[in-house]
Amino acid sequence: MGNSVKKGKVVFADQNKVKSLHLYKAAVGDQCVKMPENRPFNVNEKDLSEQGRKKEKTQVIIQIQEYISSSDVVIFTKTTCENCSKVKSLLDELDVPYLAVEIDKTDPGLILEEELYEYTMETALPNIFVKEKLIGGYDEVIQLSKDGLFQKLLEDKEDKAKEDQYDFDLIVIGGGSGGLAASKEAAKYDKKVLVLDYVTPSPLGTKWGLGGTCVNVGCIPKKLMHQAALLRQALKDSHKYGWQIEDNVQHNWEIMTKSIQNHIHSLNWNYRLSLIENNAEYENGFGEFVEAHKIKSTNSKGRVKYYTAKTFLIATGERPRYLGIPGDKEYCITSDDLFSLPYCPGKTLVVGASYVALECAGFLAGLGLDVTVMVRSILLRGFDQEMANKIGEHMEDHGVKFIKENVPTKIEQIEAGTPGRLKVTSQSADGTKIVEEYNTVLLAIGRDACTRKIGLDIPGVKINEKTGKIPVNDEEQTTVPYIYAIGDVLENKLELTPVAIQAGRLLAQRLYGSSTVKCDYVNVPTTVFTPLEYGACGLSEENAIAKYGEDNIEVYHSFFWPLEWTVPERDSNKCYAKVICHITDNERVVGFHVLSPNAGEITQGFAVAIKCGLTKEQLDYTIGIHPVCAEIFTTLTATKRSGEDVVQGGC
Ligand code: FAD
Ligand code: NAP
Repeated sequence: MGNSVKKGKVVFADQNKVKSLHLYKAAVGDQCVKMPENRPFNVNEKDLSEQGRKKEKTQVIIQIQEYISSSDVVIFTKTTCENCSKVKSLLDELDVPYLAVEIDKTDPGLILEEELYEYTMETALPNIFVKEKLIGGYDEVIQLSKDGLFQKLLEDKEDKAKEDQYDFDLIVIGGGSGGLAASKEAAKYDKKVLVLDYVTPSPLGTKWGLGGTCVNVGCIPKKLMHQAALLRQALKDSHKYGWQIEDNVQHNWEIMTKSIQNHIHSLNWNYRLSLIENNAEYENGFGEFVEAHKIKSTNSKGRVKYYTAKTFLIATGERPRYLGIPGDKEYCITSDDLFSLPYCPGKTLVVGASYVALECAGFLAGLGLDVTVMVRSILLRGFDQEMANKIGEHMEDHGVKFIKENVPTKIEQIEAGTPGRLKVTSQSADGTKIVEEYNTVLLAIGRDACTRKIGLDIPGVKINEKTGKIPVNDEEQTTVPYIYAIGDVLENKLELTPVAIQAGRLLAQRLYGSSTVKCDYVNVPTTVFTPLEYGACGLSEENAIAKYGEDNIEVYHSFFWPLEWTVPERDSNKCYAKVICHITDNERVVGFHVLSPNAGEITQGFAVAIKCGLTKEQLDYTIGIHPVCAEIFTTLTATKRSGEDVVQGGC
């Protein structure tokens, strides 16, 4: 058939190719729905042996693959399906030649339909393939055409890679924050780019779409659930502002989760669109090296493809760690499961005491749940400990319980359910045992780099055997010169979305443009979205003392009380601002810390100033904005050394 297939030509299954098959009557209905469940074959097939059936299925799969590769645009349709007709009309309007496989006019249509479902996991017709890639169905094609992107899919990029005898210039393994940023940027330089993204389901079976951790199971759902919790606080505050809201307002977990997941699905689709827009190819396959310049891509159905490239980028991120104790994988959830949990988790034990643990504990408690955090050692290791402890105190004031210096040793199920009941046995450093019942146990004990199952030893990429992290030079180059790595897989780098994105973009600009700019991992601002947010940039007080010596730093600080909180009379002097200055370097600001509502918004601006070499004098010369929380940084006078009282009456 090849590309000579004429516009709109309808083909029927080649009887010669399927002549060994029994002829089945396809159940042709006046609708587009495919069979989502794995139905047994119908009565006409009863007489077939198991072996014969398998053979038939294989032949039909081959047939489907032949159709898909026989034209640039292939649509699987039914003559009676309205959406199918609309898509065909649209392609006619766009003057795009396509091959239409009319399933209801095809023998054996029923098996073809079943196998097509297995192949695409799309529950409705039409299914549209462009250049052998599944684009989706009716909605996707209409949207692509509205965005003017359908034609773009068909454009052929000058294939320089092939001149080098590789399929691609760049293959990116991992379509998360870093991988997507790098692929889009590289494609802008007219490079032939393939990005592979594959989500291995969590032990409880949770999986998600394109975009990686941040969009699906990280920053985005986390911040939105944090917002849901802040709204409860706002409802409480509203009484004093005159809102007559009933005290027993209820929260509905399912509605929140559904709304957030809907938003995420739209983002998944936008990622796909932006790859198309930038002319980067995407495949939903698990990538692993099989030769120095060759990878294998395996999709969820076990279908395998091989691709070669001149350059590779590892951006496979991390996945949550498990405790390795009885019952952990069977009964515990992680952040990978939490954000799409179909039921309210109820009384929850959060194990761990860093970013993920405290943020999740914070919003769960904010939503009104009974939450306990089990801390092995300290809160927020690596962060300024004065700030970390203030966060802990604020969470405790707002009802979060902490079990310190304890680790779980066994998780047992008392009762299955949504949620069920779990018995948790834990042990403290001195050997004391605690047994307690919870509905849900959320493990947030760190994350492991996805680097051990991708054949990195084949090209010879070295990883840190203990942590699985990839060491790179300051150009994100691994021990193999044509293989780079970015994002959470990197050793000794910050695990943050904007860091992965920046590193990916700059890498592509260096590889394919004339840029020499490297990613600067110093003074990266960050925010912990606990109920009282914590923003930080630069050194913690401990690290500043260790680096410059106590006598060489000046710490300016103050408590403050956001105006908005004075009327509801809550959390007086819980907010706190601190800047750490290097005395002998013109009191340059080397550490910035704030506990405040909207701490992320505040910190972002000051981070720019710090990047520009902000000094204490410049802070003092800056006129504040009144009445906002951030103005405190323009009026800091008390030093820690002075021992002056820094409690404030309100801003
Ligand atoms: P990822 O985004 O994890 O992407 C890697 C992708 O590669 C994934 O889709 C993965 O499934 C895929 N993959 C893995 N192996 C293969 C393979 N062999 N073949 C194909 N695909 C593969 N950061 C912030 O800046 N702000 C926040 O507020 C924030 N909140 C967070 C909250 C939580 C709960 C978590 C867990 C993380 C949070 N982070 C936050 C961190 C942020 O999500 C990560 O730093 C960021 O996603 C890292 O990007 P990446 O590209 O390195 O990896
Ligand atoms: P993490 O920073 O590695 O912290 C792991 C936590 O789990 C620590 O408190 C650790 O305690 C504890 N822990 C480890 N093993 C344990 C065990 N066996 N039993 C009990 N406790 C144990 O991991 P994370 O919180 O998952 O965060 C991962 C990364 O994601 C972070 O580095 C961060 O960059 C990123 N992230 C960013 C944001 C944000 O920007 N707002 C939010 C979430 C995540 P010890 O201190 O005793 O080791």
